[in-house]
Order: sequence, then structure tokens, then C-alpha cells
Amino acid sequence: MTKVIAYIGLGSNLDSPVAQINTARQAINAIDAVQEQAFSSLYRSPPMGPQDQPDYVNAVMAVSTDKEAIALLRCLQKIELEQGRVRKDERWGARTLDLDILLYGDQLLELPDLLVPHYGLAERAFVLYPLQEIAPLLSIPGKGSIAELVAQCPLEGLQRLAQ
Ligand code: ATP
Ligand code: MG
Ligand code: MG
Repeated sequence: MTKVIAYIGLGSNLDSPVAQINTARQAINAIDAVQEQAFSSLYRSPPMGPQDQPDYVNAVMAVSTDKEAIALLRCLQKIELEQGRVRKDERWGARTLDLDILLYGDQLLELPDLLVPHYGLAERAFVLYPLQEIAPLLSIPGKGSIAELVAQCPLEGLQRLAQ
């Protein structure tokens, strides 16, 4: 299989979020057949959904891979579990680590467990701004250019963290 550039959204708001993101970055790099191409700054964002939880730390990572998208998702879910992710019934509740596949090349995927582009990508400041930082000329299949999407998306309290 030829290599594909995939974009992964990382988020954490429990148990030292900055350390969780850094550990996840290393774990993703350790996946066989996955190589980091770019990593955004870290950003702080207010929670979506339930407000009685800490702010999130978010980042976006570009990788080159010859893994199938679903195989990549399974690897990411394993890393979530290794870093103590507990799946609860509550939607968008606090978590040590969330790893979402934002884009997988220019592919549109509608598998039972995997929608790509990620369904929330176009409305989420904590995804769009870091994505634009590492891929300013990106075009999102079915949704338009990253510049247009960012221009339509208020910051919603997003702040870039000093590095
Ligand atoms: P959101 O999807 O709104 O960001 P979340 O990331 O907290 O919420 P999870 O509990 O991490 O949601 O995932 C719920 C399900 O979403 C998973 O079981 C997974 O199969 C599915 N899913 C569908 N598309 C994707 C994708 N592009 N990346 C990651 N998971 C996805
Ligand atoms: Mg998510
Ligand atoms: Mg998720």
C-alpha cells in the first residue's frame, strides 16, 4: 500500500494533560509503519458538553502511514486505553486521552466505527486552528479549504500555550 498522510487530533483534560499529549505523541511514533510528519503547538480549550470538567489541552499531529485507516484507529484506541482512558456513558466527559482520526489522505470513509473526515472537524476551533498551523494549504474533502473553515470558526476560548 502506498503511504497516506493522516491527521490525528489529540486531547486530554485529566492526569497532567500536557504529559498525556507528549506520551501519546511518543506512542504514536512507536506504532509500526507510522511516522510523524508534523506536530502543532499545544492549545488550551474550554470543554465541549458538560462544563463541570477541566479545560482541555489539544494538538494535531500529521503522520505518514501505510496502515489501513481502521488499523490505525485500533492502534490509537489501544494507546487511549494504555493511558487510562475509561469510556463512560456520558458524551464528551473528562478523559485522560482522546485520539481521533481527523483526515486520512483525501479519503471519505463511512465505516461502522470510523467516519472520515471526522464529523466535528469543521466546527471545532481546537481542531481547525492547530490543523491550519501544520497544514495551512490543506483542503478538507467535502468541506473546503482549511483557511475558509478557520475564517468561519470563532476561537471559542482557544488559547495557544507558550512552549
Ligand atoms: P467525538 O467523536 O465527538 O470527538 P469522542 O472523541 O469523545 O467524541 P469517543 O468516545 O472517543 O468519542 O469515540 C466514540 C466512537 O467514535 C468510537 O467508538 C469510534 O469507533 C468512533 N469514531 C468514528 N469516527 C472516528 C474517527 N474519525 N476517529 C476516532 N473515532 C471515531
Ligand atoms: Mg473526540
Ligand atoms: Mg474519540
